[in-house]
Parts: sequence; structure tokens; C-alpha cells
Amino acid sequence: MARHVSVAVPVPFLPALTYRVPDDMPRPPAGGRVAVPLGNRVVTGCVIGEAVPEGIGASPDAAIRDVASCLDREALLPPPVLELALWVAEYYACGPGETIAAALPPLALSAAARRGPRFRTERVASATPLGRDAARSDRPPLGRRQREALAALAEADGLGLPALGRRGIGAATLVRLERRGLVTLATRRVDREPPEGRASGAASPGGAPALEPTADQGRALAALRPLAAAGRFRAALLHGVTGSGKTEVYLRLARDVCAAGRRVLVLVPEIALTPAAASTFRRALGERVTVQHSGLSDGERHDQWHRIRRGEVDVVVGTRSAVFAPLASLGLIVVDEEHDASYKQDESPRYHARDVAVVRARQAGALVVLGSATPSMETYHNARSGRYACVVMGTRVHERPLAAVRVVDMRPEVAAEGPDVVLSRALRDALAETLARGEQALLLLNRRGFASALLCRQCGRTLECPNCSVSLTVHRAAGRARCHYCNHGVARPRTCGHCAGPFLETVGFGTERVETEVAERFPGASVARIDRDTVRRRGAAAALLDRFARGEVDVLIGTQMIAKGHDFPNVTLVGVISADVGLALADFRASERTFQLLTQVAGRAGRGDRPGEAVVQSFHPEHYSVGYACLQTYEPFFDAELRYRRQLRYPPAVAMVNAVVRGRSLQGAMADAGGLASLLRGRPGFDVLGPAPAPMVRLRGQHRAQLFLKGAHRRPMRDALLAALRARPDLRRRVTVDVDPLSVR
Ligand code: ADP
Ligand code: ZN
Repeated sequence: MARHVSVAVPVPFLPALTYRVPDDMPRPPAGGRVAVPLGNRVVTGCVIGEAVPEGIGASPDAAIRDVASCLDREALLPPPVLELALWVAEYYACGPGETIAAALPPLALSAAARRGPRFRTERVASATPLGRDAARSDRPPLGRRQREALAALAEADGLGLPALGRRGIGAATLVRLERRGLVTLATRRVDREPPEGRASGAASPGGAPALEPTADQGRALAALRPLAAAGRFRAALLHGVTGSGKTEVYLRLARDVCAAGRRVLVLVPEIALTPAAASTFRRALGERVTVQHSGLSDGERHDQWHRIRRGEVDVVVGTRSAVFAPLASLGLIVVDEEHDASYKQDESPRYHARDVAVVRARQAGALVVLGSATPSMETYHNARSGRYACVVMGTRVHERPLAAVRVVDMRPEVAAEGPDVVLSRALRDALAETLARGEQALLLLNRRGFASALLCRQCGRTLECPNCSVSLTVHRAAGRARCHYCNHGVARPRTCGHCAGPFLETVGFGTERVETEVAERFPGASVARIDRDTVRRRGAAAALLDRFARGEVDVLIGTQMIAKGHDFPNVTLVGVISADVGLALADFRASERTFQLLTQVAGRAGRGDRPGEAVVQSFHPEHYSVGYACLQTYEPFFDAELRYRRQLRYPPAVAMVNAVVRGRSLQGAMADAGGLASLLRGRPGFDVLGPAPAPMVRLRGQHRAQLFLKGAHRRPMRDALLAALRARPDLRRRVTVDVDPLSVR
């Protein structure tokens, strides 16, 4: 009887396929990789289980093709992680191959994977027992070089050939010793490690952090410790104001869990936050801590993935994709800054790592702690309803006051100083005072570049992206205008492309302009900028943040990268250049995001001994998300926002699925989206809204129309969408399905 397996291949949207295992091939395990024919090529896939081919016996299974080869004799992906990846594929309505590829080390499903293992190895020499004896006596007689080599090897537990070579001991000598039975030569794996993962020196396993818990921390630990120890699934929100010391709570919980022989996964929202988080955990827990994120080289990520897989690691610190880290016996998952939008992947598979973390904790019988000063609407809703435990830390460590927040209405500033005011008088004064006291300031503007657009004063047109419906951003230092969506760039023109007029003026401003302005107004200050333009190089963000932490930079200007997590005790002033950037977006989460960003960035001030101040510039100072952020109260914001979401039927009041249809023309995209909508309408359990042109109606050269599905449950919406796409296979490649969309564009 033929044996069949179900195989996920890394092709978008493709369901698992059935293959036959030839009789002379060992059975490939679930979670192991196989090479399989697909069309006229061979691809690497992952076995997800046994398959029962439909209609077997009735019709010959000639259409079912054979597995070409088996790459893993044992599961590469541990069964629980395989199960998690399959859950993600179903929930987010994408193909299992995509989610399994996200869970595997880099390139594990590439063609290169079929050529063999990707470990780095070196040849090592070690002395045999006979060799050790020989090193101690002068028998058998040996040449000087051979004796030197043997003496070195007798003391060590195997030495790499490159290291021996550097000591003048060559391969030929070692081969001669091997022939005499005094030395063995073998191949050893060398794990590549990212710089941030290397031993930080001070680490001592179990070395107790010297901090005495605050009253808030004590209460939080008293509530969370039993949940961690219970060995059952539980989700808890740790709602702690900025500077309340959430990290210390995570550390102590992690230490308990490790001491009980279980493992810990810590998710942070930004690659730039991993080095600090990893070294904090290493100081408290020793060397069995590693990192996983997409900023590592493929080799480093691969080798650390395998260390985790082999059980050599107790704590993994990483970004979104680390939610799939192959840790066994998980006891605790921490999702720090759980509200952060970067936990959602904005390309397929469009998973939200926080939500996947909760599912993973349930599957592992673990505690998942979601930490934030500004919880997402979803998480707080779950805490309110009692689905999640909720632990509050309402005061800062040492009772430090929260920063005083002042809103500056920008309308009178513009009336007094012209349309392009970057720094209000209030913010300039506050900066001058901060610098005079020798303290540091952070300035936030969530928009890169020098100017938002280049406008022709003669014909009134702006320089637009040929591929997207946006204007090009001016980058002055680079002398270019660039699209922030598709990265299309041109040299900054001197004349208008439409009317050849010579008067081009810049409109709006970004971080580069703020940097210029601050540097001009405060020539004595050291000013630096951190955004995606300045930190393209690997490690650049961490280096800049280090310089700021060491006090080598007085004013740090940046996008939301500076609003997250960092702890700089000498920062006493935070300036928000424009609170309105996020509010301008046509997005039901605009208020939530603005509230979170303002609260978080205000929380960066006054974390040391001196009190802090935040100055928030806005053209809409009366907007409720600006108002509540300035009052630094969460609950009233949540209540107001939930009322709005209920009225307009948005998450978390309902579940939502978004589908974007791309086409060569807007009419075409709208017609196709209309076709999908008519297949969906009338199905029970949800409403269909649209089709309507998407906010970014042109993106990367394609026209876009969208549909929204809203209902109490996701399953009927997902099932109906997938059925509609099966009925219109011509659309599959042009439709993006986003379950629980975070931003709509
Ligand atoms: P949060 O993540 O809640 O904003 P952090 O965990 O970054 O806060 O802690 C804020 C600061 O307080 C850090 O500098 C931390 O070292 C310090 N801290 C935390 N707990 C204590 C404590 N129990 N005693 C003294 N300092 C503490
Ligand atoms: Zn573009």
C-alpha cells in the first residue's frame, strides 16, 4: 500500500499538496523537509503530516507524484511550532508554506537547502589517550614540531586548525601525528553569533539583580508568579505607566520559570531594542540567552536557531518572527510594548505576533504577559472582560512624577511666524533651558526627509511618484526626491516637469529639516538624527542610541524609533514636532495610534532624578487623543475610543477582514472587487462594505480597490473569502487578504 504525505511548499496561497513516498524511501517525518516536483521544477517543502488521497482505490493515484528526496530524517520544525505555523496559515488565510518558511531558519526552504547543511565548520585536532601519554614521556621519539603540537593538544579539549596554524603548527604535522594514532582529526560546528549575542563579560548565571522591588512591582509579582508557576495557559496584561519598571518584573518572572526548568520567549517591537534587552536578561540569567531577528545575518540566525532547537538556550529575545523560535517547554512569553504596530507583519503572512504569542502560550500551557503603558484597544478590551488577568503599576519607580505635558497650539505660531514653523516659541525656549542645564532632549517627528513635497509656484503641480498616488519626499543632503512607498527616486529637479517653471518650493517638513533647524538655532549643541535614512547600515541605530546614552549627543531627533522602550535618565525634555501626522490618515486606528505615540514619547522624559517636561505641538489641540495623552490617563481615552468603535462597528467591537484587489486600471480593480463582493453578499454572519478605491489608490504602479468584511466571527468571513477566490482563480494573485488589519492603505 502506497504511503502519502501532505507537503507545504513555499508558494503563496497554495494549500498543502499530497505526494507519494516511494517504497524504498524512509518515511519523512512531519516537520522534516522533502524535495518534491511542482509543475516542471523541484521545490523544497515541509511535511505537515500523513495524507489520505481522495478517491484512493476508486481511481488510480497516477496524478499524485512522488517525493523526490527526503532532506531530514528527524523533524526540523518541532511539532508544536509546526502546529502553530499551520494555525497561523489558517487564521490569516494564507498558504501553509509561507508560515512554515517564516518559522524555519533562513533559506531552509530554498533550493540551496537541498545541497546540504548550512553550518560553518572547522577541522579540529585533539590528542588521543596515547597522544597524551606520549606528550608526557619522550617515547615514541618525535620531531620538534610534532612534540610542540602534541604538547599544545594535550592541554586543550580539541583545537581548531586555523588556531593551530596561527601558532605555527601546520596541517602536515597533524596528519603525521594522526597516522601514528596520537591525534584525531574531526570536523566541528562553529556557531556564528551576532555581536549583540556575545558574552557581555559581567554575566553570572543567577547573579541577582540588586534592585529591591518597588511596591507596585511587588504587587505585580505577587499576582503573576502563581500564574507562571501553575503550568497552565493564562494571559495577563501588565499595564504599567512608562518608567514603572516593567522590565524588572519580566526578569524576575523569567528567573522563576527558568529555575523551574521551563523556557522563556521575550518579544520586543524593534530590532534596535534587542541588544539592550538581551544584555539585561543575560546579566540576570547567564549565557543561555540568545537573540532572533531579521537584522542578523542569515548565518547567525541559522546557527542561533539551531542552538535553540538543540535545547542549548533558555531565553530567546527577539522581534516579531521570534514568536516561532523552536523553544521546547515554554513556560513564559513576554510581549513588551504589546500595543506596537510593528508586531503585525505588513506582507504575507500578515500575522500579528502578539496574537500568535497568545495562541502559542495556550498551546504550551504557559503564561503570556502583555506589557504596555498604552495597551491596544484589543488587549484592554480582553482585560476588561476578564479574559486576561490585569495587573496595574500606576506609579513610576521612586515615585518619580510623569512628565508635565504642555500642548502648544500651532495656529497662532503660524499666524506670527509664517506657514512653515518647525519649532514653536515655547519649544525653542524649553530647548534652550534644557541645553543650558546640560540635560538632553528628544524631538519626535514621524515623517522622514527634508520636505514632504516639491510644489511648482507657476503651475501649482507637485512632483509625484510615477508609480504611487503620493508626492515625492525631498531629501536635501542626498539631493534627491524619493517615494516612501516604492522607493522610486530622482535627482532633485531644478525646474517643474510639467511647465518647466523655475520656481519650485518645498512644502511640509520631515526629520531632516528639524535637524537642520535645531543645528542652526543651537550651534553649540551636538545634534543627531535617527530614522530609516540614517540607520540603513547594520548596527547604526544601536551605535547612535549608545552615543546618546553616553551623553555625546544633546538633542536626538527621530521618528517613532525613538519613542519606544529606551531608558535615557538624562532626558528631561521631549518635543513632539507635530502630533497631527498620524491623525491625517484615513484610518480607524488614527486616534489610538496618536494617543499611544504621544503617551510613549512623553514617557521618555524625566526617567532619571530630574523631572521631565513634554511639549506637544498640534494644529488640533482639542482632539481627544491629544487631550487624553496630555492628561496621561488611559481609561478615559479607552472609554471614549471604544464608544466610537462600537458606533462605527470597528474592532474590537467587531472582527474585520480587509481585501485589496489590484488591477491595471482603477475601473478594472473596482470591477473585480465588485465581482468578489457579489460572491460574498448574502452569506450569513457578516456584512460586506465596498468596493471602494483604497486610500493609496495607486501603489507600485498598480491601481487598488478594497472591500471590508465585518462580523462577530472571523471564520465565516475567511471561509467565504477563500470560497470566492476559488470561484475566481484569476483574482488570487491580485488580491491581498488581511485578517485583523492594523492599518489600511
Ligand atoms: P518601563 O519599561 O515600565 O517603562 P523600565 O523597566 O525601563 O520601565 O524601568 C525604568 C527605570 O527604573 C530603569 O532605569 C530601571 O533600571 C529602574 N528600576 C526598575 N525597577 C527598579 C527598582 N525596583 N529599584 C530601582 N530602580 C528600578
Ligand atoms: Zn512610489
